[in-house]
Amino acid sequence: MAGLAIKHLNNVRRRDFLAGDSLIDGRWIAGEQRDAVVDPATGEEIANAARCSTADMNRAIAAAERSFATWRGLLPANRAAMLRSWASLMLEHSEELAILVTSEQGKPLPEARQEIAYGAGFLEWFAAEGERAYGETIPSHKVGSLLHVRMQPIGLAAAITPWNFPIAMITRKAGCALAAGCPVIVKPAPETPLSALALARLAEEAGVPRGVFQVVTGHPIELSTPLLRDTRIRALSFTGSTDVGRLLLEGAADTIKKVSLELGGHAPFIVFDDVDVERAVKGAMAAKFATSGQDCLAANRIYVQAGIYDAFVEAFAAAIADLHVGHGLEPGVDIGPMTKLAVANKCRTHIDDAVKKGARAFSGHRGANLSPNFVAATLLTGVTEDMLIAREETFGPVAAVLSFDSEDEVIARANASEMGLAGYVYTDDLRRAFRLSEQIECGMLGVNTASFTGPPIPFGGWKQSGLGREGSRHGLAEYMELKYVCFGDLVA
Ligand code: NAD
Repeated sequence: MAGLAIKHLNNVRRRDFLAGDSLIDGRWIAGEQRDAVVDPATGEEIANAARCSTADMNRAIAAAERSFATWRGLLPANRAAMLRSWASLMLEHSEELAILVTSEQGKPLPEARQEIAYGAGFLEWFAAEGERAYGETIPSHKVGSLLHVRMQPIGLAAAITPWNFPIAMITRKAGCALAAGCPVIVKPAPETPLSALALARLAEEAGVPRGVFQVVTGHPIELSTPLLRDTRIRALSFTGSTDVGRLLLEGAADTIKKVSLELGGHAPFIVFDDVDVERAVKGAMAAKFATSGQDCLAANRIYVQAGIYDAFVEAFAAAIADLHVGHGLEPGVDIGPMTKLAVANKCRTHIDDAVKKGARAFSGHRGANLSPNFVAATLLTGVTEDMLIAREETFGPVAAVLSFDSEDEVIARANASEMGLAGYVYTDDLRRAFRLSEQIECGMLGVNTASFTGPPIPFGGWKQSGLGREGSRHGLAEYMELKYVCFGDLVA
């Protein structure tokens, strides 16, 4: 594995993608200090990135402010043209971007390629949606007046983004903000700056004007503090942990920003005994092991009805045994390293805790010993609610299976969580599917499918999984203000 990422990065023709400089006010900033970027599979330094200062962030805010009037004044079609050419450039450079993603994030290369297409899709989708920011005309309650509601850009936006989807979480936020007419400043996760900065190179090439899309890398608290304090930042969008989301919400309270938060998940995946076991296992594999389990949509509690529990576990174990763990740049790998050691350690804590409390662990991994960031795909059976894994998000390739008897019981157990991002239900009974779709407390529910995300859907959670929505026409509303205008005295 050693040297693999460096070898691939040496073949990236766009050498500027590796520069690691931030884009502030139309200039590439090297910063006085630099932070190492490492391959999570090996711990090797593969590049370094600017550690920008508070003063740099303040310069970015001022530049965004200067760019706002011109950007909001453009016709939506003109903004759309830039978003579309940015998306085309992403697709043109898909392979190079995918290598960056896998090198710094760890996910298998085919998944990184999918992320580039998924990420470009948000730009294309919002290019069109920006042209549909219709207001409304309300039937009047006053004689001789016209009641008109307009949607206007909220102002400057800030996006604080995570490392698990280092491309798509930026385009999902920035594509939407830009389409709405708002300049946006991105503070990417320190683990994955190269992907974010490569996007900035392509945005510049697509003609996005100076100050309208900026990427500032460095220390999270140092860079988020000016964003929170500055009254000119009117919208803040964050994806990451619930703890940090709570801190940012508190920090944004002073200046009453519009905050949208996409936080942790703890998705229930419920399998009733009327379904085809193979189909349910296929869904569970996708819902659990995509992005090596580092996905807020990941199935964290797999509830299987008692009648098919043994058959499900047997088929699930066989599928898990086929998963290949290794460096994301090696062909045929399904599970890469965890991007952060803390995440791998949390997986191990969840496995140890469950086994100590009576669960059985199974892992099909037979290869060489792997470095500490790796976690072998693991199946835990006989999981009960007193175990940590049944109570908190794992964010790794550990599948916890719990048994249930009745519909009412599983609904109560699935809803007994402060998280409410996503859920999955497998049943062939239409009425039951409807009842579950009414009663499961979450923002997104897959019924007989593990694949439902994409630009047109309102992505977001209930309870402590977040606030607001990304993607879809609802996403656009996060970056716009409504203005009600009453034209009076219209009839002489
Ligand atoms: P995190 O919340 O610490 O990091 C996400 C982003 O927040 C990064 O950009 C980071 O630089 C920034 N950040 C961190 N602390 C900050 C602070 N005090 N002020 C401002 N910004 C700050 O997440 P993590 O520690 O890297 O991962 C821990 C857990 O968070 C994971 O195990 C998972 O449960 C969850 N997570 C969820 C998602 C998601 O897609 N919803 C993404 C990443 C992590």
